[in-house]
Amino acid sequence: MNDKPDDKSGGTAVRYDILITGGEVLDPGAGLNGRLDVAIKDGTIAEVAANLDPATARETIDATGLIVTPGLVDLHTHVYWGATYWGIEPDPVAARTGVTTWLDVGSAGGYSFPGFRRWVAEGSQVRVFALLNLSSIGLIAPTWEFANLDYCDIGLAEEMIRLHPNLILGIKARIDRNTTRGTGIEPLRLARQLADRVALPLMVHIGSGPPSLADVADLLRPGDILTHCCTGGDMRLLGMDGVPHAEIRRLQEAGLVLDVGHGAGSFSFDVAEQLLAQGIVPDVISSDIHQLAIQGPMFDLPTTLSKFLGLGMNLPDVIERATSRPAAAMGRPDLGTLRPGGVADLALFRLEEGEFTFRDVAMEPRQGSQRLANTLTMVGGKRLPHQEEGPLQPWARLPEHQRVGSA
Ligand SMILES: [Zn+2]
Repeated sequence: MNDKPDDKSGGTAVRYDILITGGEVLDPGAGLNGRLDVAIKDGTIAEVAANLDPATARETIDATGLIVTPGLVDLHTHVYWGATYWGIEPDPVAARTGVTTWLDVGSAGGYSFPGFRRWVAEGSQVRVFALLNLSSIGLIAPTWEFANLDYCDIGLAEEMIRLHPNLILGIKARIDRNTTRGTGIEPLRLARQLADRVALPLMVHIGSGPPSLADVADLLRPGDILTHCCTGGDMRLLGMDGVPHAEIRRLQEAGLVLDVGHGAGSFSFDVAEQLLAQGIVPDVISSDIHQLAIQGPMFDLPTTLSKFLGLGMNLPDVIERATSRPAAAMGRPDLGTLRPGGVADLALFRLEEGEFTFRDVAMEPRQGSQRLANTLTMVGGKRLPHQEEGPLQPWARLPEHQRVGSA
């Protein structure tokens, strides 16, 4: 083993495949923030340091004026394209957004998980993981998956989790008035039982009840994930008096992960502002990207992150909530970081300055002065090529108030 240059040639030994030079590296989880170069070898991060010699790499990428982050980790996505109401294809979106790790939350239940594994998890260039839906039918239809408790087959779910241990990282249960129509809090009780049996986190979606947020809070534990934390629905985290729900605050302090999951119906600027003002800061900022949300006003994860910049959160806090924090919530702290030795998943962004109008799901506008624009996305040291995105499904029609031109 000799890494030194060959004296006779007078040249410098090539040690790296790719060197990304001159960028502002921002990896809050690893404590990296500044003008640093990133060296990649064999699909992994080999070194992060100032002024690495370009002659040591076969290829150099100039990132001057750009921000270099770990590949983004989106904790709330729907990527079971063609088999579910909500699913989109992740690779084309990843190539223009910097999202290299996609957690699909509950698109597949027990009956459709083998297909998810073969066609989505193994068929994508990006890294795809899943939370298994407690309902065996998953999200084939827009909602109602818990309206028939016969679909809550804990034994089958447990078997699937045993068969796919490194792919299924937790359990998903959507709890609102439509998903649980007529069955109340019982599906969440069953989801709690399942999560305890398999010792994995439970992600619970909230919206408009019944059930109530109090009923849901009773069944949440530290390490679980409460998604749609900025919902404007009546299960919102703010009481009628505008004060955050005390039990949620206590749970968050104990380790409950509050996740944004913007989506098409779950993000209110008003609620987000009130929560931030009262010291409740979401732990993770995720997109809930799907057939509808991708059309706007959510659009994609960088747009969602830009909304939080507009709300006054600083860039490192925002990036941390889309890299190391979601990776930790998934039990995969090896992802969402540029630490040497880890996989070379990274993204380059231009931080655009200007006057931008962002909208929540009610199309309420807020002005922002910064916007993150992805310029390059790499998975395992390989650039994701830009590719055309397929047409949306015939049923993917935005509600009237969200259509372009109506705002
Ligand atoms: Zn969702």
